[in-house]
Amino acid sequence: MNEDWIKYAEDFTSGESKVLQELRRECEAHYEDKSMLSGFFQGRVLSMLSHMIRPNIVLEIGTYLGYSALCMAEGLADGGKVITLDIQEDTNAVARSFVAKTQYKDNIEFILGPATDIIPNLSGPFDLVFIDADKPNYSNYYNLIFEKVRPGGFIIADNVLWSGKVLLDEKDENTQALHDFNKLVLADDRVENVLLPIRDGLMVIRKV
Ligand code: SAH
Ligand code: CA
Repeated sequence: MNEDWIKYAEDFTSGESKVLQELRRECEAHYEDKSMLSGFFQGRVLSMLSHMIRPNIVLEIGTYLGYSALCMAEGLADGGKVITLDIQEDTNAVARSFVAKTQYKDNIEFILGPATDIIPNLSGPFDLVFIDADKPNYSNYYNLIFEKVRPGGFIIADNVLWSGKVLLDEKDENTQALHDFNKLVLADDRVENVLLPIRDGLMVIRKV
């Protein structure tokens, strides 16, 4: 897409909260992995989708600085919660400190540990799952959470275009894993999906 159009789309999208803006600035100033954070436009898309779903329980796999967790928390049903998983302690501490400053402090639960160990202990049912951690595990995460997603619930997976590398003939481990994940979803007749070419590619999946 034309860069100017993307800028225009951002300019004509509602602004984010002050805390989210602060969190993005903190990330830009102090973190190497700047592109891991969802960013303004995708954050607004996640918030909008969450408002449309009005989830009681969201599971997020990959917290990082808590930006996407806070965006999805905006659309929660009354008393709803976001459970968010990560393995990285330092970024998790930052995420917790930012969330503590918001009205969502009692609605976001952080769990530290490898997601493949944690998920089997979570009961669900999830209304929305956001998959955004280590790419080689995307298909594992999908299989692990599937039965815990309510019928009619949604799964969203980030970075499924992997900067366009999914199109290359020679694929590295992450690229191959993402391509395999996309094939798995498309072939799964328990779901309908649409790959939105937003930012790095958002796979939006509905469990039928
Ligand atoms: N969802 C965030 C970005 C997540 S970045 C946002 O959009 O703002 C990916 C995160 O996945 C990193 O913080 C990384 O520590 C975490 N991660 C990597 N491997 C993991 C694993 N095995 N289990 C849980 N989290 C993992
Ligand atoms: Ca991501």
